[in-house]
Amino acid sequence: MSTVVPEAAGHLLTGSPAVQSRTTGRSRRADLQSELVALPMHEDATVRELPLPGLALGEVLAALDARYDPALAEDWDAVGLVCGDPAEPVRSVMFAVDPTAAVVDEAIEAGVDLLVTHHPLLLTPVHGVPADDPKGRLVHRLIRAGVALFVAHTNADRAPDHGVNDALAAVLGLDEVRPLESLAAPETDTLVVFVPVGVSDQLVDALSAAGAGVIGDYTRCVWQTTGTGTFIPGVGTHPAIGRHGQVERVPEIRLEMVVPRARRAEVLGALLDLHPYDEPGYAFFENSATASRAGLGRVGDLARPVTLREFAERVATTLPGTPGGVRIAGDLERIVRTVAVCGGSGASMLGAATAAGADVFVTSDLKHHAVSEATEVAGPAFCDVAHFASEFPWLSCAADLLHRDLGARVHVQVSARPTDPWTWRVGGPGATGTESKRLHSAEHSAD
Ligand SMILES: [Zn+2]
Repeated sequence: MSTVVPEAAGHLLTGSPAVQSRTTGRSRRADLQSELVALPMHEDATVRELPLPGLALGEVLAALDARYDPALAEDWDAVGLVCGDPAEPVRSVMFAVDPTAAVVDEAIEAGVDLLVTHHPLLLTPVHGVPADDPKGRLVHRLIRAGVALFVAHTNADRAPDHGVNDALAAVLGLDEVRPLESLAAPETDTLVVFVPVGVSDQLVDALSAAGAGVIGDYTRCVWQTTGTGTFIPGVGTHPAIGRHGQVERVPEIRLEMVVPRARRAEVLGALLDLHPYDEPGYAFFENSATASRAGLGRVGDLARPVTLREFAERVATTLPGTPGGVRIAGDLERIVRTVAVCGGSGASMLGAATAAGADVFVTSDLKHHAVSEATEVAGPAFCDVAHFASEFPWLSCAADLLHRDLGARVHVQVSARPTDPWTWRVGGPGATGTESKRLHSAEHSAD
């Protein structure tokens, strides 16, 4: 019964027209989501032979780390470079959910230089990678073929704006999306500094290079107002402008820039290095804490409320088809507007989904007792999808983001091999929905 796999693979390659045609635009966050939604699925099964200069692996990994900060990963996780030389060139990158033998075969056949997977190959510590061990053999094969392996796992789950959960929320059509897990944003200061008009641009460049002026994807953000600075240089000073004992009036610019508190020392160093005054006027104001856009899970609203039945049908047709299909717990006629999602095994986020007022919680690997007990009390309905399917939307999102971040200097592609481990489903009184029809049609077509 391998007949399910070609259908699933075809679905993976073509994506969903409903997904690709959706647009949003009510807010900056909505814009980011529509950006995600608009990302094309990659249909190339092989790398096109185009003359690309490529980049050093280390530069590609720096771009990935910038989007999927390894500091966001769980303590138990194993993210980052598994094998590969940061000095070696990378011209093509493949994204996949799992580093299975089939995916490694595909990466080697496609001739890519880097395979990025969501799940780690070596989650538990090992003392060696002998080739007579299944995982060790994959490491040997990758190294022999010159393919690096890199993992972005729970850091990609938590990442703001372009993570696994943003991608899942986007393809399901959620607006006003925010994390289920509440994290404080990194602490910031606002730097205020007064500088003579002629050197302000140069100073802004230096402060930006030291880490100031970053707001989301925008860099070199600065507020400038002009005014007049006055001072009397004291005895023993060495004023760049003015004379001892005399009131001086200088056209100055007041610069205001946000500074990550962790970069305050570097930014101050750049300021003192470049500012022409021997005693520059500046201050760091500590900003109050704000909520982070990073964190596990997402919750958002549908543009139009639908029944749980209709929503489940949408989930089934939007995500890759898998033998297990989509399982629902709840009244199919219930009206659904607020939707919580958590790519992968999201049972731990059930409390957060309930607290967020979700009408339905979309995740994977839910267990009998958790669902049974939760459906006995007021709370969300459940939409349990294949683990692989819930994380698949991130692949094209991350691939296109990397392509853009690297100025189109590398090819990117998404693995065409479904890595859902289940191969067949049979029977069940609930086998009357979209998924079962798709399974049946696949079976009939193989007869
Ligand atoms: Zn996962």
